[in-house]
Amino acid sequence: MHYTHTIIGAGIVGLATAYRLKQKLPDAKVLVVEKEVCVAKHQTGNNSGVIHSGIYYKPGSLKAVNCRKGYKQIIEFCNEHNVKYDLCGKIIVATSNDELPQLEKIYERGIENGLENLTKLNESQLKDYEPNVNGIAGIHVPQTGIIDFKDVCNKLYELLVESGVEFHFDEQVVSINKGNSITIRTTNQLFMTDVLISCAGLYSDKVASMTESSLNVRIVPFRGEYHKLKKQRRSLVRNLIYPVPDPNFPFLGVHFTRMIDGEVECGPNAVFALKREGYGKFDFNISDIANAITWPGFRKVIYKYWRTGLGEYYRSFSKKAFVKALQKLIPSIQANDLISGGAGVRAQACERNAGLLDDFYILESQNIYHVCNAPSPAATSSLAIGDYIAEQVIQSN
Ligand SMILES: Cc1cc2nc3c(=O)[nH]c(=O)nc-3n(C[C@H](O)[C@H](O)[C@H](O)COP(=O)(O)OP(=O)(O)OC[C@H]3O[C@@H](n4cnc5c(N)ncnc54)[C@H](O)[C@@H]3O)c2cc1C
Repeated sequence: MHYTHTIIGAGIVGLATAYRLKQKLPDAKVLVVEKEVCVAKHQTGNNSGVIHSGIYYKPGSLKAVNCRKGYKQIIEFCNEHNVKYDLCGKIIVATSNDELPQLEKIYERGIENGLENLTKLNESQLKDYEPNVNGIAGIHVPQTGIIDFKDVCNKLYELLVESGVEFHFDEQVVSINKGNSITIRTTNQLFMTDVLISCAGLYSDKVASMTESSLNVRIVPFRGEYHKLKKQRRSLVRNLIYPVPDPNFPFLGVHFTRMIDGEVECGPNAVFALKREGYGKFDFNISDIANAITWPGFRKVIYKYWRTGLGEYYRSFSKKAFVKALQKLIPSIQANDLISGGAGVRAQACERNAGLLDDFYILESQNIYHVCNAPSPAATSSLAIGDYIAEQVIQSN
């Protein structure tokens, strides 16, 4: 079977890319190959459901640019196709004086990234937004919203099928051969394609190394574990409450998120996952562990940040420690207010010699595109990433 464009992975990045390609090239014969039996099974289906505003990211970076563009695009998409979302806003809260310089930096970044109506808050203004919060200063970010990204994926899937895109589920790509046309071998069959785009999330490095012999990045999986507030305690949180992030690990720091279904998620902590798609505490895979710890870039991260990592593991096994971390933001919260929630595993690319790669990273060579790093806010940014890839594909053909 021969296709003009093939996409590996039916997470939100793969689906959004297929969608943008089909919009720009209506005659394209597009295939999506997915190893699971449905869309959004991994990162996309287990994330926090936040439409990020783009306040945090380095101005000019792919994250900053695509988050702002993607933000507008996802809202337009949801309005057009009746996908539920709520732009409820969030507050970022400093709980000690030493966090104030970083809070100020975030505010300035937000302005540089084009966010309007950001408001600096003092202690009492924080309480106007979130009466139960403890903090000395903060920022209100009105643009932040909540959504279920699975709903977006289901709608994208429906539209793609209607437009003639073919889906092959339950087929894992096991090898790729470059030639005049590209041959993709899955667990069941062979496909030929002119252009290949891999959006394989936690396996993006594995798929990339099928065509790139000396790949400079490797995926290190980080599991984020959540708790939820019991129904009768959800009123502790009105919307979204975030701490001031550690610039070295922007995805760390427990926070509170009201979900679009009304539940309130608390967390996550983030621990090195011993298995790429290991959602349970005790899941492990020897090859995944070896893959990460033999990688020089990750060894550097361990050497430099082992204390931070141990703290995250401690919170993973000690509910008391987890609650203590939550109490920094909401002192009245107690262990028995929490029930255990789910977990998600983040695909974080790590460079061979430099450590964790902060920005999005797309590798391109001879009609093959590998999305090698698409961590948060890639769900928010997905339609912009898809747009960018589709433009690159069109320009090089
Ligand atoms: C805990 C957590 C919270 C997050 N919170 C947010 C948030 O609030 N807002 C936000 O914008 N972002 C958030 N993110 C980030 C966001 O979820 C991801 O950046 C985004 O979902 C990445 O989408 P993806 O399509 O690249 O990957 P995925 O959703 O992981 O999809 C990759 C797909 O590729 C398939 N695949 C892999 N290998 C193969 C193969 N060999 N053959 C065939 N198929 C294959 C997989 O089965 C999978 O379906 C969060 C992530 C996590 C984990």
